[in-house]
Amino acid sequence: MKIPFLNLDAQYQEIKDEVLPAIESVLESKKFIQGSICEEFAGNFLKVHGGEFGIGCSNGTSAITLALRALGIKQGDEVITVNNTFFATVEAIVEVGATPVLVDCYEDTYGINEEEVENAISEKTKCIIPVHLYGNPCDMPSIMKIANKHNLKVIEDCAQAHLASINGQAVGTFGDAGTFSFYPGKNLGAYGDAGFVITKTKELRDLVEMYLNHGRTEKYEHEFMAGNYRMDGIQAAILDIKLKYIEKWTNRRIEIAKKYDAAFSNLKTIKTNGKCVYHLYTIEVDNRESFMNSLKEKGISTGIHYPITMSNQPAIKTVNSVINKTETSNQISSRLVSLPICPYLKDEEVDYVITNVKELL
Ligand SMILES: *Cc1c(COP(=O)(O)O)cnc(C)c1O
Repeated sequence: MKIPFLNLDAQYQEIKDEVLPAIESVLESKKFIQGSICEEFAGNFLKVHGGEFGIGCSNGTSAITLALRALGIKQGDEVITVNNTFFATVEAIVEVGATPVLVDCYEDTYGINEEEVENAISEKTKCIIPVHLYGNPCDMPSIMKIANKHNLKVIEDCAQAHLASINGQAVGTFGDAGTFSFYPGKNLGAYGDAGFVITKTKELRDLVEMYLNHGRTEKYEHEFMAGNYRMDGIQAAILDIKLKYIEKWTNRRIEIAKKYDAAFSNLKTIKTNGKCVYHLYTIEVDNRESFMNSLKEKGISTGIHYPITMSNQPAIKTVNSVINKTETSNQISSRLVSLPICPYLKDEEVDYVITNVKELL
């Protein structure tokens, strides 16, 4: 049996008949950038995911940069984030001139460790960026308590966490802003780059809109220096079609995760704090390389997310940063393996993965 890690082709076959006419209608309307198609998608995304205000942007990295800029984070400020994330989280902090402060994660949820956050707060700290890694919500109530106590802004990196929630409240709506990626491989993915920023207030959303569109007040009047981080109409139209399916796809991910959880009760898997949407399903193993190779021989593709933590990235040495305790995240990064959890996996394919993993461990 051949089990791909991600099956975007199966997804395309399911939605093709709706996607192609939607692309055609964008071409005919010539609403190529922002405009009504993007606004309509924004409204629909907020309805499906949760959140009151929001706007689409160019990608998940710029979404974080825009949220930081709109919240006034700048040179000299410190921003606390977690050592185990995708590189973009740290990149965005550096992009606005601020200093990334890296802290450790919990060993069971892989979410940012609030105690370590509190230890890392200094005079210069302005913001915390928890990352809902693998689609697993961080403990937002505790993080907000710390943020409120120390008067800090909070941006939730929800790039992997569309439709994730805690006690029914959507991730991205606890903090000042929540940022999303629609990179093709994410749970909700475009056919190109796209991203989104959810904001707590209308004022912040409008400020994000200016920061993503040349600091414009009118067509040729610019209030401040900003840049171009706008969303494409074609991507919005495609995402709008996929929004009709995202709940079904997410439920299937959760269903597969439950099967894995039941089968791997003797292994270290992800412990959840709320509704995890399983962008990835990880297990920890001792001999990772041989384990992955053996699965590959059986036709099962796996991945590592991520093999190098932020504190060990070559690029981190080229910028100002503060690196706190990182033992847990660094130790985990040498043990993690991501198993296939694509919504298009059939039950017999999931069983085939389970049988082979069990045989090896
Ligand atoms: C994918 C991802 C991003 C960046 O999103 P892009 O759309 O690729 O720019 C940021 N943070 C996390 C945690 C991600 O997984």
